[in-house]
Amino acid sequence: MNAPVLAGPLPGQPFIHQHDGQLRMEKIDLAPLARRYGTPLFVYSKASMLAALEAYRRGFAGRSAQICYAVKANSSLGVLQVFAQAGCGFDIVSIGELERVMAAGGRADQTIFSGVGKTALEMSRALQAGIACFNVESQAELHLLSAVASDAGRRAAVSVRVNPDVDARTHPYISTGLKGNKFGVAHDQALQIYQLAHSLPGLDVVGIDCHIGSQITQAGPYLDAMERVLDLVDALKNSGILLQHIDFGGGLGINYNQDTPPAADELWRQLLARIDARGYGQCKLMIEPGRSLVGNAGLCLTEVVYTKPGSHKNFCIVDAAMNDLPRPAMYEAFHQIVPVTPRHGPMLTYDVVGPVCESGDWLGRDRSLCVQSGDLLAVLSAGAYCMSMASNYNSRGRPAEILVDGAQAHLIRERETTADQMRGERLL
Ligand SMILES: *Cc1c(COP(=O)(O)O)cnc(C)c1O
Repeated sequence: MNAPVLAGPLPGQPFIHQHDGQLRMEKIDLAPLARRYGTPLFVYSKASMLAALEAYRRGFAGRSAQICYAVKANSSLGVLQVFAQAGCGFDIVSIGELERVMAAGGRADQTIFSGVGKTALEMSRALQAGIACFNVESQAELHLLSAVASDAGRRAAVSVRVNPDVDARTHPYISTGLKGNKFGVAHDQALQIYQLAHSLPGLDVVGIDCHIGSQITQAGPYLDAMERVLDLVDALKNSGILLQHIDFGGGLGINYNQDTPPAADELWRQLLARIDARGYGQCKLMIEPGRSLVGNAGLCLTEVVYTKPGSHKNFCIVDAAMNDLPRPAMYEAFHQIVPVTPRHGPMLTYDVVGPVCESGDWLGRDRSLCVQSGDLLAVLSAGAYCMSMASNYNSRGRPAEILVDGAQAHLIRERETTADQMRGERLL
């Protein structure tokens, strides 16, 4: 029987704490928010995002470095605005993300464009907007980008994403740096591809990048990838191609459930020592963190609709589902689930599930809870890859979102209505 946490910050969540038997984020009680805006409801802490950004900045103190928030982790305008106002750059993977960055006040000239499948239309829009760099992932993409840039009478700044072939030791679906992945160009072909890039009329070669995976919880894979990338930078230099920046991608993990990823500043102190030792301490560095900037800044409030005892299992059926919180169904990911107003009483073991018609629609398995219909639960670590992956499956409207800033709660997205969902559809 687990006693509920009754006071103080939740482990690994300095901006979420129990106060007078109530769950709070910064200075806002969460139960009244859920009553006012309904559930499921995403709630984010601005202070938590800024603290995560600050940890990277401490790590890079005194260096020429640019942090580009990976927009796909959470692309809501209010979240992008927090990073834009903090002077952060952005890493995008589609033109939709670029439009969002600019609508939120972000700067195109601090935005880099990643992804294996950029189309000619996306390239020309990004060039017109004046983005800082294209992170190119194949020879075919180099040819197309050069042609698109030449047609527009411009030159595109490019970096080539190299695949360092290191194992990030994370879930296979979020591991991207191995030979069998679709991402990047093979390490042993990189030199040849750079020579091609250098020779194409519409391109300026400015950098090199890699990204080995996501939810990485050890420093080892980063160090291995860095050594491999720096080997290539050496080889490029020897063949007369000088780079202006080195981009080490994103991928740093967060604590979902007793995970112990290195702190961003500690990790970068270690990595920078290696970079210095290899003689690249003066080179401009870029990184593309997503999850580690927003993941633990967010939670999702959900109401218990029914409890359903069974002969094998007890189910706690809540009003959030796999369409709102897709990570458990997609990657069997773990999110902590805690009561918003803990009750005193016997704990039962439940599978916490949503109403969607799929057995994969579960949010947590074998959780010890004391709950009744109408109680509120908070699904933690829901700031990254939740709302940005949310869908309308089962014709469910996507949740509203709140950004908490001290004692203020800003509605940054209204709950999606059925009319919103049907907009643009036509009967025969
Ligand atoms: C997804 C992605 C990131 C961000 O990854 P996180 O694990 O969220 O830090 C960075 N760069 C690229 C190219 C990506 O695809």
